[in-house]
Amino acid sequence: MTTPKLTIAAALRPPRLNYAGFCIYCLAAGCSRAGCIAQHAASEWVLCPDCGGTGYVRGHIDPVCAHARCDCWGGLLDVNLVAPEPVAVVSSSGAEIGAAWDRFDSLFGHEGAGSAGDGVVA
Ligand SMILES: [Zn+2]
Ligand SMILES: [Zn+2]
Repeated sequence: MTTPKLTIAAALRPPRLNYAGFCIYCLAAGCSRAGCIAQHAASEWVLCPDCGGTGYVRGHIDPVCAHARCDCWGGLLDVNLVAPEPVAVVSSSGAEIGAAWDRFDSLFGHEGAGSAGDGVVA
C-alpha cells in the first residue's frame, strides 16, 4: 500500500466540473471528454496574485473594501493559460538592422531635394 503524495499544485487544482456541473474547459454540462480530462490532469494551478485566492480583487489586502469579482478561477490561475507563448522572436542581427535602415533611407532619403546630399554617409 502506498501513501498518495500531494504536491502543492495538485492540492490547489480545482474540480474540472464547476459547482453547476459544467466543464471549465469546454463549458459542456457533465463533460467526460478525454481531452478535457487530460488537460485538467496536466494543469498546474497557483494562487491568483490579484486576489490572493479570495476571488475578489485585493480581497487578501483589503477584505472590507474588496467588492469587484476577480476573473480568475475561484482564486486560482492555470499556470499554462497564464503564460502565453511568445508570438515572435525579435532578431538583433546587425545585417537585418542595416537592411531596415537601408529601406528607411530609400523611403525617406534625399530624393528630390536638389541639394548636394550632405549628411548622407557613403
Ligand atoms: Zn470538457
Ligand atoms: Zn483572482
